[in-house]
Amino acid sequence: MAEILEEEILGKAYDSRLAKRLWGYLRPYRKRIFASVGLSMTVACFSLIQPLLVLHAIDHSIPNHDFRELGLLLLVFFITMCLEYALQFAYILLVNSTGQHVMYDLRIALFERIQQQSLSFFDRTPVGRLMTRVTGDIEVLNELFSEGVTLIFGSIFLFIGILAILVWLSLPLTLTALSILPFIALVSRYFRIWSREGFRAVRTRIAKLNSFLQENVTGLQTVQAFVREERNLEKFKQLNWDHYEANMQTIAAYAVFFPVVEIISTLGIGLVLWAGAYQVFAGAVTLGTLVAFIEYLFKFFQPIRELSAQYGTLQSAMAASERIFKLLDEPIAIADPPAPHSVRQAKGQIEFEHVWFEYNPGEPVLKDISFMISPGERVAFVGATGSGKSTVMSLLSRFYDVQKGSIRVDGDDVRNWAQSNLRRNIGIVLQDVFLFSGSVLDNITLGNPQIQRSDVDRVIQELGIQSVIDRLPKGYFTELGEKGRVLSVGERQLISFARALAHDPSILVLDEATSSIDTETERIIQRALLRFTEGRTSLIVAHRLSTIQNCNRIIVMSHGHIAESGSHEELLSKRGIYYRLYELQYKNQESVV
Ligand code: ATP
Ligand code: MG
Repeated sequence: MAEILEEEILGKAYDSRLAKRLWGYLRPYRKRIFASVGLSMTVACFSLIQPLLVLHAIDHSIPNHDFRELGLLLLVFFITMCLEYALQFAYILLVNSTGQHVMYDLRIALFERIQQQSLSFFDRTPVGRLMTRVTGDIEVLNELFSEGVTLIFGSIFLFIGILAILVWLSLPLTLTALSILPFIALVSRYFRIWSREGFRAVRTRIAKLNSFLQENVTGLQTVQAFVREERNLEKFKQLNWDHYEANMQTIAAYAVFFPVVEIISTLGIGLVLWAGAYQVFAGAVTLGTLVAFIEYLFKFFQPIRELSAQYGTLQSAMAASERIFKLLDEPIAIADPPAPHSVRQAKGQIEFEHVWFEYNPGEPVLKDISFMISPGERVAFVGATGSGKSTVMSLLSRFYDVQKGSIRVDGDDVRNWAQSNLRRNIGIVLQDVFLFSGSVLDNITLGNPQIQRSDVDRVIQELGIQSVIDRLPKGYFTELGEKGRVLSVGERQLISFARALAHDPSILVLDEATSSIDTETERIIQRALLRFTEGRTSLIVAHRLSTIQNCNRIIVMSHGHIAESGSHEELLSKRGIYYRLYELQYKNQESVV
């Protein structure tokens, strides 16, 4: 809903604060911009010369039967026309390439900013909105650059130039022509109000359409499984129709506006012709002057029309830039300290001290968590769903900052570490694995040049999952498709396992890392893990208690607290939560066997 509301805002057509910031992005290309403004003015100049040539032909060459001069005038006319079009060609290329450069820079700035944001930002920002910023809004801005800015300069210049020539040709006729301007102003005003509503409606409805599409394509399997296609289609039809109607509104506005302005300006030209004829009879102006005057009038109404039409572009561009800057200005919740200590390999000591944490204000998820893990220790976290195990893991990597207390790695608060350095030391296998499109190998190395092919081979060998890789059609080079679609969930977990280990971290975090792997493979991995966790601090979250037999210590979480902690035997003898969990699973296994 928030997304839609944001699209609804249509700003002023000109906002000096935004214009200043936009100028910041244009600055590097100012030479090109000045050149294109210069070009558009030159083009305007050429088109200003032409009627004067006609005037001279009618008033001099034709009455004097001077065919040489007439030929010359025609030649000049032809040349100016050719130059005008040639320059126009250069202008269009220049303006558009400048616009593309600015878009390129802005997109990079946006992507960079989005990547720096902490997870809390993504918790409250829908993906669709970010997509719209980086693609749609940038495109709208592009329109402003490629058409708006220089066109407006050119139009204003042409407008003033023609006005000066008109006054010079004949003041009374100019006044006659200008008498229709109030009517055009009135029509433009209505057009702006009308099209403004239309623009707003189009933007909000396209946003709705997009988010509906995105969600339903992503969840298509669920849609099909629950046979919701029919209902979804109906919903989509409705949204699509709304979009159609909104578009028709703006189209109708344009369709009415242009002919009406045309009619008014034609009336103005008729008026001038009528008044001009009297002046010609009276000998106040020459016939050539009248013809040239009317020629200029045609050109005069053109920029008026264009400026009015560009108003909409300006408005939506300002609104788009407002949204883009808002995203660029979004504070980065988790920033590196001003002077992080030097990059180093962590020893792997972890300490949580009276940690309180909440995702949403007033709803603490971790309450006064304290524990200490020595380097090389293997510690398991168990507890009911939603008790806060994954949250502990996220906090360790500083994906979020704690509200109270502190988390230390090697005795240093994680807030004093450079994030990249901290995270390089922690290898994570997440509960929901994320694989990127690309090959298996790419997904394991993630483009890290320090990881050699031989390292990957070794990890796969030692994990004992070579057979899984061999089963894939092209082995390591099998393309995984978006989110690793072509693999089973268990296979994805294995790949992300290999990924974490290949990066050779001091601290290993396994959040339900083997939950989707069959018992046989899991047993193989268990054995491998014993080797891999040697010399590394390991935090292992598991629901299946069989997975954590080899841990030195077990921390039992319950409702954001640490309920119990100790070795397997100690916890069993306590006959508390862990004992009950164990009993349940043990009995389950008995009954299955
Ligand atoms: P599971 O065993 O199901 O993985 P967990 O112990 O890992 O559970 P957490 O993922 O740490 O549980 O979640 C702890 C609590 O925090 C839950 O109540 C959950 O609803 C809430 N929570 C988790 N992630 C977020 C989030 N991004 N925004 C708001 N609340 C969240
Ligand atoms: Mg979890």
